[in-house]
Amino acid sequence: MFDIIIIGAGPGGYETAADAAAHGLTVAIVERDQMGGTCLNRGCIPTKALCRNAEVINLMREAEVWGVKTGEMAFDYAPVFERKEAVVKQLREGVEMLMSAPGITAIKGKATLKDANTVVVNGEEYSAKNIIIATGSAPRGLPIEGADLAMTSDDILAMETLPKSLCIVGGGVIGMEFAAVFSTFGVEVTVIEYCKEILPPFDKDVAKRLKTVLSKRGIKIITSAAVNGISQSEDGYTVSYELKGKPQSVTCEKVLMSVGRQPVLPQGLDTIGVNVGRRGIEVDDNMMTNVQGVYAIGDVNGRMMLAHAASAQGQRALHAIMGKADDIKLDIVPSAVFTVPELAMVGLTEEQCAERGLDVTVKKSFFRSNGKAVAMNETDGLIKMIVDNATRLIVGCHICGAHAADLIQEVVTAMNADATVDLLARSIHGHPTLGEVMLTAARQF
Ligand code: FAD
Repeated sequence: MFDIIIIGAGPGGYETAADAAAHGLTVAIVERDQMGGTCLNRGCIPTKALCRNAEVINLMREAEVWGVKTGEMAFDYAPVFERKEAVVKQLREGVEMLMSAPGITAIKGKATLKDANTVVVNGEEYSAKNIIIATGSAPRGLPIEGADLAMTSDDILAMETLPKSLCIVGGGVIGMEFAAVFSTFGVEVTVIEYCKEILPPFDKDVAKRLKTVLSKRGIKIITSAAVNGISQSEDGYTVSYELKGKPQSVTCEKVLMSVGRQPVLPQGLDTIGVNVGRRGIEVDDNMMTNVQGVYAIGDVNGRMMLAHAASAQGQRALHAIMGKADDIKLDIVPSAVFTVPELAMVGLTEEQCAERGLDVTVKKSFFRSNGKAVAMNETDGLIKMIVDNATRLIVGCHICGAHAADLIQEVVTAMNADATVDLLARSIHGHPTLGEVMLTAARQF
């Protein structure tokens, strides 16, 4: 009998397995597909490889504007695709190696739950004191005619040649990253978003700023529009939508559906009586389901569909199994959009503070007055900081600008340490760095 059986080897599953083995526990990890899960094979990593290519192309275009000759700029997608594949392969091999460490038994196949201590894979039974379900999520569709004509994020990452035009249904994180990347590669991109603004969970000012930048770069972004059908046409596909009560349509060579993701539920949950809610498997603060000893971490519980949230939840579950308390703050989770410029956020938005009736002050600082940003020619950007008036604790931070995803980490640490904004304001920041934009924001309080 193992100490733990983990179902699914995404960032939730494999990191927890490695951690458990490092603590001397015996672990079996079951994966039906490839090690690394969505994140490594069809998510974070391949998209970021593409984002890097887009960034380099943007830099080369910028250099041309300054008169630097960078050579032939005709775009060939084949080497970009190959590089993405190579990056994924390299990292996947790393995870495979990690999962062959002492204490870990990797089992290839689809797991079905038999009871609260038993999992069946390829007809064989494996038992454990605890089971962690980390089966992730899959792309969700829209209940509209022709929905199956659209590609998913999995399909677009497997596409080896570029279309002339692409219509993206859904302006969330995944949709906007693909929009920015493929538009840089020369594809004519249209984004259709149902909400008033793109990137609904992000701060409105920050999302609007990104929309302006991307629109200037030629991406057509249509908001407050309800897509109601996709049909095949002579030139590709026609996406029909309603805008301000009027029927409209756009025709393009390919359509990407990126309207969210849904949990992948392993078979047998009902047999053992695990509660499943609207978002996914229901769990308590220790990530335990209503069945003793059965946990669910990552996308499958629908709490926060991010790789680092999956890993952190795995740590919490592991600590609970080991009977060890921890102070991981699972509500302080940064998120980012890897467009150029990047977006990043942590904590509450201004709108959420207003809804909760919080007494806060909001201050902004801008990349355009930062020496490093000017030197980098990355002056488009801002940091918005939100501080509670009574405690002076930072309750939220929102960034649009170069290296936003890295910059936000300073605030994540400060929030974890319950540090006031004054601590940030008196901490010496190196010069010239983009970190000084954060310092300028903090000093205004
Ligand atoms: P997954 O990574 O989905 O892994 C689950 C694994 O379980 C899969 O390998 C699956 O094959 C396996 N499995 C399922 N059912 C069974 C079964 N019955 N038996 C055996 N195995 C099974 N997140 C970020 O934080 N940053 C990003 O930049 C980012 N970019 C993304 C870009 C895209 C295009 C997409 C789609 C997602 C992105 N995400 C990003 C989200 C991130 O990929 C997920 O949040 C993360 O992968 C969730 O990890 P997980 O371990 O819960 O599940």
